[in-house]
Amino acid sequence: QAPNVWNFGAGPAKIPTSVLQRAQAELLNYNNNGMSIMELSHRSKEFDNLNNKTQRDLRTLLNIPNNYKILFMQGGGNTQFAAIVYNLLAAKRHQLDEDLEEEFNPPLDYLITGSCGSKAAYVYYCDNETVNGVEFNHIPEIDPSVPLVCDMSSNILSRRFDVSKFGVIYAGAQKNIGAAGLTVVIVRDDLLIRSKNFDNKNSGIPMIPSMLDYKIMADHNSLYNTPPMFSIYISSLVFEWMLELGGVEAIEKTNLIKAKKLYETIDNSKIYKSPVEKSVRSRMNVPFRIQREELESEFLKGAIELGMLQLKGHRSVGGIRASIYNAMTLEGVDFLIEYMMEFEKKHS
Ligand code: PMP
Repeated sequence: QAPNVWNFGAGPAKIPTSVLQRAQAELLNYNNNGMSIMELSHRSKEFDNLNNKTQRDLRTLLNIPNNYKILFMQGGGNTQFAAIVYNLLAAKRHQLDEDLEEEFNPPLDYLITGSCGSKAAYVYYCDNETVNGVEFNHIPEIDPSVPLVCDMSSNILSRRFDVSKFGVIYAGAQKNIGAAGLTVVIVRDDLLIRSKNFDNKNSGIPMIPSMLDYKIMADHNSLYNTPPMFSIYISSLVFEWMLELGGVEAIEKTNLIKAKKLYETIDNSKIYKSPVEKSVRSRMNVPFRIQREELESEFLKGAIELGMLQLKGHRSVGGIRASIYNAMTLEGVDFLIEYMMEFEKKHS
């Protein structure tokens, strides 16, 4: 990152400067291999070590129990929307096959409205809505026999949580993990079933495209095909950076301070307003408006002049949005707050 620039982008988002500097230093010659990480074979011992180490570090950071696999997949959050359906329906069908002969017509619950029945194939929710700045402050309680599936694309690694409450967690890398191209999937072992109809064509278990198949990915340690090696490498550096800082617990403390300061600035002001109800405000994405909306473009222009970039709200909702992921420093948030207060003084 250029000096004197503060990147408030929602994703792709800021990557810690020290991570970028290390990647730069190692770019031409990764680990004395005489070539970059992007040029090494994904079947090499070197890459295998990196793959395993990155998984180990993530397991440490999130305290992931041993009965969960970590998968490094591609295609972003959007591809997981489909992968989840394929894999969880296959797992449910597998379970029914073992238990009893039943018609296969399981409901899926998406937590937009509320509760679920014990027959559900899974319950799905998004922990942090990046565009709207809305975040769950608890893990929903559901029937423990139903897998809870969670999109944590924009808040994974920002606070501690109990992985064992979930069947599947997934997150695109481009916010708190590193560079776009990698999607991390954390899946409980019992949901990894042999989904293809190799053995029994009449098993009734749906076919899953291989690239979306969690079991295939798990069986190959995410090396079923060529993985996004550079993104995995950047993630490994981000995980090391986090561990050096004291892990998720330490990062969480700073995240709380950052969000509190910013929301207080908005709530105590006469010109800014938050569109989000207090109890569900995101600690990662802070959208706000200026009462006189015509001032918003002036605000954004002035911010860019001072080096505060990508503050424009999502095109679907407009306004201003400050994304303050793990890599955004307290100093960066203070800089934004100072600007907001000066802007307010000028316009009130
Ligand atoms: N889920 C959330 C919470 C997101 O913020 C995004 C992207 N902004 C997605 C899913 C989609 O991710 P991708 O662009 O990697 O497909």
